[in-house]
Amino acid sequence: MTRDARYDILFEPVKIGPVTAKNRFYQAPHCNGMGRSFPSSMAAMRSVKAEGGWAVISPEQVEIHPTSDITPATECRFWSDQDIPYLARMCDAVHEHDALASIELCHNGFCATNNYSREVPLSPGHIPEVYHNNPLQARMMTKSDIRDFRKWHLDAVKRAKTAGFDIICCYAGHNLTLPGMFMLPRYNSRSDEYGGSLENRVRLFREIIEDAKDAVGDTMGVIARFSVDELRGAEGLEADKEGREIIEMLAELPDLWDICLAEWHNDSQTSRFSDEGYQEPFVDFVKKVTTKPVVAVGRYTTPDHMVSIVNRGIVDMIGAARPSIADPFLPKKIEEGRIEDIRECIGCNICVAWNNMQAPMRCTQNPTASEEWRRGWHPDRIAPKNDDGSVLIVGAGPAGLEAALAAAQRGHDVILAEAAQELGGRVSRESRLPGLAVWARVRDYRTYQLSQMANVEVYLSSTVTAQQVLEFGARHVAIATGAHWRRDGYGRYHQFPIPGTDSDRLLTPDDIMAGTRPEGAVLIFDDDHYYMGSVIAEQLIADGHKVFLATPFPEVASWTHNTLEQHRIQAHLLEIGVNIITSHGLQSIDDNGVKLSCVYSGRERLVEASAVVMVTSRLPEDSLYQELVPESDKLRDAGIASLKPIGDCFGPATIAAAVYEGHRFARELGEDVADIPFRRELTELSSAFELP
Ligand code: ADP
Ligand code: SF4
Repeated sequence: MTRDARYDILFEPVKIGPVTAKNRFYQAPHCNGMGRSFPSSMAAMRSVKAEGGWAVISPEQVEIHPTSDITPATECRFWSDQDIPYLARMCDAVHEHDALASIELCHNGFCATNNYSREVPLSPGHIPEVYHNNPLQARMMTKSDIRDFRKWHLDAVKRAKTAGFDIICCYAGHNLTLPGMFMLPRYNSRSDEYGGSLENRVRLFREIIEDAKDAVGDTMGVIARFSVDELRGAEGLEADKEGREIIEMLAELPDLWDICLAEWHNDSQTSRFSDEGYQEPFVDFVKKVTTKPVVAVGRYTTPDHMVSIVNRGIVDMIGAARPSIADPFLPKKIEEGRIEDIRECIGCNICVAWNNMQAPMRCTQNPTASEEWRRGWHPDRIAPKNDDGSVLIVGAGPAGLEAALAAAQRGHDVILAEAAQELGGRVSRESRLPGLAVWARVRDYRTYQLSQMANVEVYLSSTVTAQQVLEFGARHVAIATGAHWRRDGYGRYHQFPIPGTDSDRLLTPDDIMAGTRPEGAVLIFDDDHYYMGSVIAEQLIADGHKVFLATPFPEVASWTHNTLEQHRIQAHLLEIGVNIITSHGLQSIDDNGVKLSCVYSGRERLVEASAVVMVTSRLPEDSLYQELVPESDKLRDAGIASLKPIGDCFGPATIAAAVYEGHRFARELGEDVADIPFRRELTELSSAFELP
């Protein structure tokens, strides 16, 4: 296929000081839970992006000194020459694919709690540690500390050159770095030349850019990453006030401007709360005040939108973190005219969540994310089949769809049977709930791909029985029949059934998604703590119900701190009139209403609701699998070599987990799988130790 001429503009080179990006695709630095702890995994993940056509590749933030130690978060480090080899490995891998390697040097100031180094955190002024609310404070930097910081930054610049990087990114973004902290009056009340006027508050950022330019500016690009707005009104930086003035002051100094929002929850908004291109209103002035190239993110996944923001003079390069995780080959697919093959990010922030849990990121759309090195999974290639057998997959939710697609890509003949009249399982049902429409991409990408394959047969409205599985003649069978929500209230807080839950006033999310609606006021009991309780609340408000949302936790949707959504969810529920009751368990349900009890005092409270939606936990829909397991003789006689439950019917979890399990099923078909099915990265012992 050849690319559509409309997209040619995306493949024009962009000069970044003395270096040139081969096209307009810029992989913005992003955390991934690997970094220095899993350096080969991190390097391989960046390498496939370079192979996939991104012209600029950057690792996540790189801490420059032991006073910037954000342990347990596992980002990259450049404290000394000891750190050079793994970052050099990443550079080499990126260069192999003709991409530029950029490095985001970072000092986290008062966000660095220095758990490992035990240094006292540094800051423009005395300030309590606010990132994790640990019982410690950052100290106000002296002039000598500022000189030290500039030296550490410069040392890191020189190390970056030695490692083979092409671009130095000077970072004042996300309220995570010292130069950015110095800009904000709420942190900086200094009376020296680094405080007071805007020029003084910007001085440190200017100095580190100038230092870097003096040291390497003739051979490396030196760029600025800057958060132009904090979305906190006059209390913070605003794009139409000091945000703009700062860019005007430094306009021609860096070789490129990478503009974003602070803090991270504003920069990486989910699709539940924002659309593609949501940062444009904060960025659209930048090219008017500088002649240097501009890059910005905004969850861009559609080439027409990308062309539009270049043609309208908003940006010169398309910044992308999450779209590059969901599809590392996004640029290549546009270049080769394979638009329908793009696996578009759904904006769910599952990748962010696992990073926040200090584990290798995972992705709902891309099951190979973080598996490139340790399992050898490539995002755009899969090994041909090792076994000639056909594959029957029962259930076409995310697990079944991905299993079918990956098995078919390996060359197996695949039969996919689904009881419902549509494909997609929970993704189809959930994407009809408020705010989750974009999640349908998980289904749409896979159904389109399957529709293009000659070796796949899909049967809708086909409830498969155990007898039919035996009669089908498939060599491999995957049972992907999903899960259903429990009615009895069993969850994290209540681990016995709750009295009254056999009542017909009781519903589950499955009932709501199937269109059942209760009478009158409804109480949602959320002991799940992810998105479901809050989206059901939104749905019922939209349907005209009075809604209470009760949870045993002190806040709603507590787990969504990991996806950076908790604050937005709680604010939105309050705005639309949901009555939130925190720290309460469910005592009983009867004709008088719903009795709750405080998780601390046990004090009871009656809520006048005539129905309860129970959002607590799920049970696997595994009866088909359970029927077949004892029939090993019959399975053998039927020529079935493998039978596997996958996805929610094996272990109810996220959509990402179901996609991954489906993919894994197909990758492992006919292969020998070791007890530990992936390569591990172990810390090397450096020398024998002697205690004094
Ligand atoms: P997962 O997240 O694991 O993919 P889902 O619940 O999204 O699970 O999807 C499971 C799918 O399996 C649903 O669409 C459901 O209709 C289908 N299903 C369940 N039992 C059968 C069966 N016996 N035969 C065919 N399809 C089934
Ligand atoms: Fe996008 Fe979700 Fe994948 Fe992150 S996990 S890249 S938000 S699809």
